[in-house]
Amino acid sequence: MPHDGAPGSAAAVNGKSDDPSSIRQRKNPILNGDSQALIANDGHIVFSELGKEVDKKLDTHQGWEFGGPPGVTAMILGFPVLMYYLWICLTFYDGQLTHPESIDDIVPFFSRMWQHVKQDAAPTPYAFAIYTGLMAIQLLLAFIMPGYKQEGLPVPSLDYKTLTYNCNALASWYATLIIAATLHWNGIFRLTEIIDNFGSLMTVSMIWANIVSVYMYVSTVARGEQIRMSGNLIYDFFMGACLNPRIGSVDLKMWAEVRIPWVLLFLISVSGACKQYETFGYVTPNMAFMVLATGLYINACAKGEECIPQTWDMFHEKWGWMIIFWNFSGVPFTYCYSIVYMAANDPKKYEFSTPTYIALYTTLLCAYYVFDTSMSQKSRFRMQMQGTYQPRWSFPQLPWGTLTNPQYIQTEHGNRLLISGWWAFLRKPNYTADYIQSLSWSLCIGAASPIPYFYPVFFFAVLVHRCGRDFERCERKYGKDWDKYCSIVRWRFIPGIY
Ligand code: NDP
Repeated sequence: MPHDGAPGSAAAVNGKSDDPSSIRQRKNPILNGDSQALIANDGHIVFSELGKEVDKKLDTHQGWEFGGPPGVTAMILGFPVLMYYLWICLTFYDGQLTHPESIDDIVPFFSRMWQHVKQDAAPTPYAFAIYTGLMAIQLLLAFIMPGYKQEGLPVPSLDYKTLTYNCNALASWYATLIIAATLHWNGIFRLTEIIDNFGSLMTVSMIWANIVSVYMYVSTVARGEQIRMSGNLIYDFFMGACLNPRIGSVDLKMWAEVRIPWVLLFLISVSGACKQYETFGYVTPNMAFMVLATGLYINACAKGEECIPQTWDMFHEKWGWMIIFWNFSGVPFTYCYSIVYMAANDPKKYEFSTPTYIALYTTLLCAYYVFDTSMSQKSRFRMQMQGTYQPRWSFPQLPWGTLTNPQYIQTEHGNRLLISGWWAFLRKPNYTADYIQSLSWSLCIGAASPIPYFYPVFFFAVLVHRCGRDFERCERKYGKDWDKYCSIVRWRFIPGIY
C-alpha cells in the first residue's frame, strides 16, 4: 500500500484492516473543535458530530454559484435562444454558423431567425402528443415495472434517513424498446417522425421544462419543504427548492435524469438511422456509431441505476430549472446534432476510411469501459461502506466494475474517500471518460459541420465548473482530509498533466 495512515494524522488511510471498534479523537479542521469520528462495530460508516455539523452548514446557502442572479438569468434566457440558433444553422444553413452579413442586415437577420422558429418549431398539437406521450409512458413504466430496491445515501436534511429507490429503469428501457419497435413496424408511429418534427418537439420540451420547474418550485415552497435557499427568487428558481421530489415510489429527479433525456436521445438516433435508410437505402457507419453510443449510454444508466443515488445530482443538486430544463430539453435536443446533420446530408460529406472507423469505434468502447467501471467502482464502494451493496446481474457487468478490498481514506467527517481502482489515478476518472465519449459523438461527422461540437465544448465547461463546485464543497466538508486525499490522488482529469 503506497500511503500510510499514521496515527494522529488528520486522515488515516485504511484498507480492510480498519479496526472496527476504533473511535478516534481528531482535531476539527473546519470548526476548530474536537469531535469523534465513529466507525460502527460492523465496519460501516457512522457520521461524527463534527460531520453532522458540517453537513448542516452545507445545507444552507453558502454563496452564489453560476454567476449569481445575473448569471442564472442569462442562462434561463440564453439557453433556449442558443438552442434555436444552433438548430436553425444545422437545419437551414447546411450546418454552418449563420450571421448578419452587414450592420444593415442585423434586423433582417433576426427576422429570418424568428421566421424559422415560427414556421418550423411551432409547438404543434402533434408534437405535444408525441412528447407528452413519451413522458406519460415513461412515468407509467416507472410506477408499474418491477424494480431492484436500492437504499440511497443518508440524507443530512432528513436526519440521515436513507430513501429507497425503486430501480426499474432497465425493465422500463426494455419495455420502451418493445413499444417503440411495435409502434414503428405497425405504422402507428414511424420513428422518423421524431426527426421530421424536431423543431416543434424541441419547443414542446422547453414548454414542459418550464411548466414542471414552476410547479415544483411553487409546490415545494407552499409545502415548506425548501432547502438551501438564497432568498433571491430567480436564483432559487434556477437552483431549485426541493432535494428529493417524489410521487409515491417514483423519485422524480432520478426518473427525469434517466427516462427522458437518454431514452429520447436514443430514439432520436434510431429515428436518424431510419431516416437515412428511407432516404439513401442504407445506414452509414457514422449513424450506426451514434445508435451504439447513445444505446450504450442509456443502457449504462438503466442497468446501473442503483449507482445513480450516489451521484452529485441525486444527493446534492436540487430539482430546479437548471436540471429540469437540461433533462427535458437540453440533453436530448443538443447532444444529438451529429444525428440531425447526418439524417439530412449526403453521406459523402462525412465518409471516413476503414481505419478511421476502427479508431472511432475503439475510442468509444474504451472510453465507455472506463466510464462504466469508474462510476460503478465508486458507487459500489460507497454502498459497501454503507452496508447496502448487493451484486446486481444486469447486462453487461464489466470486469473491474467492483473493487475487492478497496483502499480508502477515513475522514474525520465519517465518510470514506476511495483511492483504489481508477480512483487511484484520477480524482475524476468518470468525467475524463465521459468527456471522451462526448467528443467522439461529434468526431463521427468529422469536419462536415461545427454545430455538433457544441456538446463537447459545452460539456467541457460543465465538467470543469462542476468539478470546481464539487471540490470546493469537498474542501469545506473534509478540510485537511481533503488536502490529504488531493496529495495522494494528485491529478484531476489527465494523469501527469492536470
Ligand atoms: P462524481 O461521481 O465524481 O461525484 C462527486 C461526489 O462523489 C463528491 O461530491 C463526493 O461526495 C464523492 N466523491 C468524490 N471523490 C470520491 C472518492 N474518491 N471516494 C468516494 N467518494 C468520492 O460526479 P457526478 O456525480 O457529478 O457525476 C456522475 C457522472 O455523471 C459523471 O460521469 C459525469 O460525467 C456524468 N454527468 C453527465 C452529464 C451529461 O450531461 N452528460 C452531466 C453531469 C454529469 P461526498 O460529499 O458524499 O463525499
